[in-house]
Amino acid sequence: SLQDRLQSAFKNLRGKGRLSEADIDATAREIRLALLDADVAVPVVRAFVGRIKERASGEEVSAALNPAQQVIKIVNEELIGILGGETRRIRFAKTPPTVIMLAGLQGAGKTTLAGKLARWLKEQGNSPLLVAADLQRPNAVNQLQVVGERAGVTVFAPEPGSTGAGDGGTEGTRSSGDPVQVARDGVAEARRSLHDVVIVDTAGRLGVDAELMQQASDIRDAVQPDEVLFVIDAMIGQDAVQVAQAFAEGVDFTGVVLSKLDGDARGGAALSIREVTGRPIMFASTGEQLTDFEVFHPDRMASRILDMGDMLTLIEQAEKVYDAEQAEKDAARLMGGQFTLADFLQQMEAMAKMGSMTKLMGMLPGMGQFKEQLANFDEREVDKLKAIIRSMTPAERDNPKIIDGSRRKRISAGSGTTVQDVNQLVTRFFEASKMMQQMAKGGGMPGMPGAMP
Ligand code: GDP
Ligand code: MG
Repeated sequence: SLQDRLQSAFKNLRGKGRLSEADIDATAREIRLALLDADVAVPVVRAFVGRIKERASGEEVSAALNPAQQVIKIVNEELIGILGGETRRIRFAKTPPTVIMLAGLQGAGKTTLAGKLARWLKEQGNSPLLVAADLQRPNAVNQLQVVGERAGVTVFAPEPGSTGAGDGGTEGTRSSGDPVQVARDGVAEARRSLHDVVIVDTAGRLGVDAELMQQASDIRDAVQPDEVLFVIDAMIGQDAVQVAQAFAEGVDFTGVVLSKLDGDARGGAALSIREVTGRPIMFASTGEQLTDFEVFHPDRMASRILDMGDMLTLIEQAEKVYDAEQAEKDAARLMGGQFTLADFLQQMEAMAKMGSMTKLMGMLPGMGQFKEQLANFDEREVDKLKAIIRSMTPAERDNPKIIDGSRRKRISAGSGTTVQDVNQLVTRFFEASKMMQQMAKGGGMPGMPGAMP
């Protein structure tokens, strides 16, 4: 499986102290083969592997992680990216009802999904209406009615035996009704009976054809859906891309639902669809029951594909611990009296951030006495400090004690500030520096000004 293949690709990196070009090439090749075997679309594989190689050999070296962990981290992040990054939620209409139209090939799982989606929406407090606009197959309307009943949701369907609005065709068969009219009537009915979401089930064909596409786009034009969800059977492998492209051109969907993900051992469709269509995967259907349905989360899908939940957690923790170590080292250095202008600038930046927070929240608990000081301290102040420090020579930065009157004049002229500004900075720096030394001796925290931990 894709999972096993990826894991064996990473296995070869274990215990390596540093990755050579050859290591990266070999790993990239294995990842490429694993993805191709999983039916991921070729251009997608090429772009994906290219990014992995670039990042793995780039300067992105983290001291917190060993090379194998680093590559896994990169692959995980790229997988999340290729799956769409963020979870995309349904966009509800400003004025109800929100109209959701389903499109896709016959057997893709549209009608099943209609029930799942309706049940899920109902659970969230919505009042969905299902609309049976698949009049292609004799049993389609009935199937939706069964699904609706199970979901406890009302189904709007053409009257049995009706021939659809304005259609003078033969009587008695549903297939002679007009699906566009049914869809339109369904939305009108939802408005009348105060359903806030309408789910329009449509017909599909075994293959992509012009008539099907025309019908779907006619329905779309008639009901102006807020979302058009393209339902695709994840098990169809390489064909998924071509079918998705045809629907993207034919009806221009807004989101994708991967169905039968329970049977998709290879994960290829999931990885290709988003990249190829530029449309987000919004839901996953994972079985025949109404509850076999989930909101699609790219990060969860990525870790499912990697099947390395523990390893990813470990990586996350390693990075956190490393950050903590770095912070401790920084603190030790400061306590040792090596307080520099760069440290000072960092503190000022932190203060500016707090300043804008104080302004935002009106109050900072326990910091009443600094409130005013902070509130008057904003990003512009920090920009000024930066300009001044930039106008200093390296010698002045290393040892601000040498900054005498004539140097101050030069620095203020160079930074476009006043001599007073420079004086203030130097004074503040020495104050902060003294405070750090006191802290180092006494081991305590003498309060704030300038000294944010
Ligand atoms: P439609 O033609 O697009 O409306 O597809 P249907 O909703 O009628 O589904 C076709 C078949 O696939 C039915 O037998 C469903 O029970 C089955 N099916 C739909 N979704 C899933 C799924 O997520 N997992 C599995 N295993 N079967 C599914
Ligand atoms: Mg159907």
